[in-house]
Formats: sequence, C-alpha cells, structure tokens
Amino acid sequence: MHELSIALSIVNLAVQEAKNNGNSKLSELEVEVGELAGVDINGLDFSLGIILKSSRMNVGHKIHTISPLSRCNICKRDFKSTRKYTSCPFCGSKDTRLTKGNELRLKSIIVE
Ligand SMILES: [Zn+2]
Repeated sequence: MHELSIALSIVNLAVQEAKNNGNSKLSELEVEVGELAGVDINGLDFSLGIILKSSRMNVGHKIHTISPLSRCNICKRDFKSTRKYTSCPFCGSKDTRLTKGNELRLKSIIVE
C-alpha cells in the first residue's frame, strides 16, 4: 500500500525533526497534501493513524488539503485547475504549470 509507506516516512521524518529539536517529545504532526499529488488522502490519514497508534507515542496528526492552482506562462494569470496539464481559461494557451496542489510534505510538528 502506497499510502502506508508515505505515512511511515512522514512519521520517521517528524520523529527525527523532534530529536533534532533538543530531543523533544513529538506531540503532533501536520501534513500538507495537494489534491493532485497522487496520494489517496483518506488512505494517508488512515495509515498515519495506525502507525501513530501502534507506536504508542501519543502523537496526533492533521492533514491539510491543498486545492490545485495553475499559472499561465503566457498571460501570467492564475486559475483553479483540476488536472496537472490544462489550457488557460483566459487566453487558451497550453503553456501552463501547476503552482499548487502537487505538494506532499511535513508542514510542521508540535513538540513538548
Ligand atoms: Zn493565459
């Protein structure tokens, strides 16, 4: 299961960050996931819950979903997108890029 391995690496990273932060105890971690990141957000939420529960570290977790946003390289306008590659709704150019919605990262941790 793809999401389980992602969740595991996020937890490992958060634990490492807490250690780097004066060996503090991790109490919560926050993750940012873009809607177009190719991750099943419910699956990730579920996996994080299982790993954190089984670790008995008493760590909470939050997932922030990022809505996709694209920018047109021609007319430089931003627009909401539902796909990675899409045409600009203003000028019709296909020269666009996703600026938000593709992220998968540990946003922050809370330590005690
Ligand atoms: Zn455009």
